[in-house]
Amino acid sequence: MSKPVLAIVGRPNVGKSTIFNRLIGERLAIVEDKPGVTRDRIYSSAEWLHHQFFIIDTGGIEITDEPLMEQMRIQAELAIDEADVICFVVNGREGITGADEEVAQLLLRSKKPVVIAVNKMDDPTLHEKLYEFYSLGIGDPYPVSGSHGLGLGDLLDAAAEYFPKDNEADYEDDTIRMSLIGRPNVGKSSLVNAILGEERVIVSNIPGTTRDAIDTPFTKDEQDYVVIDTAGMRKRGKVYETTEKYSVLRALKAIERSDVVLVVIDGEEGIIEQDKKIAGYAHEAGRAIVIVINKWDAVEKDGKTMQKFEENVRQEFQYLDYAPIVFLSALTKQKLQNLLPVVNQVSESHNLRIKTNVLNDVIIDAVTTNPTPTDHGGKRLRINYATQVAVAPPTFVLFVNDPELMHFSYRRYLENNIRRAFGFIGTPIRILARKKS
Ligand code: GDP
Ligand code: GDP
Repeated sequence: MSKPVLAIVGRPNVGKSTIFNRLIGERLAIVEDKPGVTRDRIYSSAEWLHHQFFIIDTGGIEITDEPLMEQMRIQAELAIDEADVICFVVNGREGITGADEEVAQLLLRSKKPVVIAVNKMDDPTLHEKLYEFYSLGIGDPYPVSGSHGLGLGDLLDAAAEYFPKDNEADYEDDTIRMSLIGRPNVGKSSLVNAILGEERVIVSNIPGTTRDAIDTPFTKDEQDYVVIDTAGMRKRGKVYETTEKYSVLRALKAIERSDVVLVVIDGEEGIIEQDKKIAGYAHEAGRAIVIVINKWDAVEKDGKTMQKFEENVRQEFQYLDYAPIVFLSALTKQKLQNLLPVVNQVSESHNLRIKTNVLNDVIIDAVTTNPTPTDHGGKRLRINYATQVAVAPPTFVLFVNDPELMHFSYRRYLENNIRRAFGFIGTPIRILARKKS
């Protein structure tokens, strides 16, 4: 289940971010159809042949106030701890520098698989420069050109050789896999403990340990769950651990293995930019989402406090308009009993299947009420037929005369109609337009 992680390390200006952007290529072009999703430019999912993996540009993880060599050391350390394979980038035109040698030493000592990319090899006449990089002791150097997109296929082939074979704990299909994400100190661990300590919760005494998480299976009211706790595996005391970008990586890994993601917000402190980034990843990954406002005990309240907070959440997380909000306190356990029923509900929506004829009735009604758009030449979108092709998240395909005519606003309109008819509380839904063949 869990995707391998490829980390890019190397000196500043060797071309790490150029290579990163190349490797995620078309992902950047995916149009996010809801405003307000904040993206981080240093993590992404990527695909190569049949491999799916995460990629990190460690150069984007700035450790302020440290000398350059120390920053690079910390970045390399993070890569060593978190990645399955490291891509070490050097500048082929400059040759080996002292800093390259130091980083190479660190990587070699770690015994992590490393592939070395010799960048800025924009044409083959430069390839003779490759040979000196053998002396770093890392193995075959791969000539690449980030800016021209050359050699990256061979590089990824070599990296993929090291991706671990899947040996993840698997759970029954009806087990709800959930994770709690949020910045440090919002109360994730406290909330996990509170959930596991609830009445009638039966915790399996054998936690499953995976590469980077501790899984705690439990049962309540005959429903099986597993909490995926990446925070529990945090390597306490590492310098990078407190950086914001690192908590994004932890969240990303947890989201990947979950059905339901609890986005935990500190009710006392309110919403900050970092919360939005983390939540954006859950939305993009298509998971079911519950927004949890924790520490509600510590908030001074009058009759309108909750409503105001809710309005603020809706404003700040516009793309999560489908996610229910639960206010609670992990500390006092106030309203904690509301949480799992909501988790069950969003999980059900996430896996809901709509019968084709019922779906088409809803689409026909929507089109009757609000006719499909036309383009400048007067050509009108025609929807012939709709069908649900997937769950988790629910995905609908509309067969149309011309997909170009399906505008953002009309897609939103149809989504709203589908939601009104079927609920889909707590899950994103996807609507794809395909040309009728
Ligand atoms: P980073 O600091 O390692 O992330 O490096 P960047 O990706 O920001 O690149 C640093 C500079 O090198 C930029 O001016 C890039 O345009 C340039 N660069 C990156 N890749 C190549 C390449 O393959 N060939 C050439 N000639 N220049 C490149
Ligand atoms: P994590 O880093 O997100 O796992 O956060 P922790 O669970 O370690 O909690 C961080 C701090 O917030 C600790 O001091 C907790 O005691 C406190 N905390 C957690 N939940 C609550 C809550 O519901 N109310 C209050 N007042 N404090 C809480």
